[in-house]
Amino acid sequence: PIEPWYIGGPVIKGFGRGSKVLGIPTANLPAENFSTILSEHTSGVYFGWAGLSTRGIYKMVMSIGWNPYFDNTEKTIEPWLLHDFGEDFYGEELRLAIVGYIRPEANFPSLESLIARIHEDGRIAKKALDLPIYAGSKDSPYLKNSM
Ligand code: ADP
Ligand code: MG
Repeated sequence: PIEPWYIGGPVIKGFGRGSKVLGIPTANLPAENFSTILSEHTSGVYFGWAGLSTRGIYKMVMSIGWNPYFDNTEKTIEPWLLHDFGEDFYGEELRLAIVGYIRPEANFPSLESLIARIHEDGRIAKKALDLPIYAGSKDSPYLKNSM
């Protein structure tokens, strides 16, 4: 297990690559605001809890890095909240408690294999967050104070 770390801010527009159309919307945070804390953590896929002001606290799985498949030149923070909202929430305050690490960033031979791996990451996150060592972080004051 890793030491939990915390970041948050308003949900911004990402590249609009249609991850939502693929069933994997990611609520981007402005990575430039978190350069120090990001430099202390390796790129890759993490999981944890997401607090959305006015809505609640949800499981999330998140990619941090350059997304090799898409050849990004800027680091991005892309949490997928494992909940069906049925609407967008751009501009809302999103707070993350990041409690576990799944894997490093990887490139994939096809979009299909990338999507399959992200769904696998989501299943891993859902299960792990039910474990007592991770479940408790749902109650962290940082998440609640945004509500
Ligand atoms: P963008 O490139 O602008 O980030 P996405 O296709 O990644 O666009 O969609 C992300 C947006 O979808 C989020 O900013 C949020 O407003 C909305 N959204 C709806 N449901 C979810 C969810 N379960 N997880 C993350 N974002 C979601
Ligand atoms: Mg996104």
